Amino acid sequence: MPRIITIAGNWKMNKTASESVDLAKPIIQALNNQNEVAVIVCPPFTALQAVSGLIENSSVRLGAQNVSDKASGAYTGEISAAMLRDLHVTHVILGHSERRAYYSETDAFINKKVLAALENNLKPILCVGETLDEREGNKTFDVIHTQIKGGLAGVTIAQAENLIIAYEPVWAIGTGKTATPALAQEVHAFIRKELSALLGESVAQKTRILYGGSMKPDNAAALLAEQDIDGGLIGGAALAAKDFLALVESGKAAAGKKA
Ligand code: PEP
Repeated sequence: MPRIITIAGNWKMNKTASESVDLAKPIIQALNNQNEVAVIVCPPFTALQAVSGLIENSSVRLGAQNVSDKASGAYTGEISAAMLRDLHVTHVILGHSERRAYYSETDAFINKKVLAALENNLKPILCVGETLDEREGNKTFDVIHTQIKGGLAGVTIAQAENLIIAYEPVWAIGTGKTATPALAQEVHAFIRKELSALLGESVAQKTRILYGGSMKPDNAAALLAEQDIDGGLIGGAALAAKDFLALVESGKAAAGKKA
């Protein structure tokens, strides 16, 4: 069974609730109930409810950009997995490099959130990736190994069915610098090997590994053609419906070729 190509949009801290509706509407209308590609949109927390109402009968899935590691209680400012589930959120981006860099999230902390998400039927999109310094210091594979092992500690084989990984080289995020398809493929293959060592070959073969980092309509086809690149986590290009839909089209074309 080929892995289903997945195109996920990370809207980051952009768009009010009403602007999110304006962005989501044409995407949902254009995609309707297609199921060749899995499509996930991840608006900010404040827009989840509004977008949730739009996707009710659509195949487009709703993702959040963070979740608390705690279930409930006195944790001011936090949002629990159950609160997200209540809004029909199915996915959650965790370990994004912006949260690692600006909010000091460690692998151990990210791991708690991964486990909280999985225990509550939310599918984590766990982001891993090296900085430019780490790449230039030949540390890429060490960094990815540590992030995968740390982020997935305690995840069971059964839970891993709901896991998505995103390889996002930090130097390519929002910079316009994309990893070449060959370079990205090399790291994706490494991640799959790490998954195999950690959770077994069957999990490794089933798990989708998305690429993120300045993926755009003009470079997506070449990236998605690579054997171990199963989709994209898209930042900037997810903020324009036309570009995002073009990326979904690239995903459909790649799915056709990989089938
Ligand atoms: C991201 O932040 O997840 C991302 C991939 O951003 P961009 O596409 O803008 O590089």
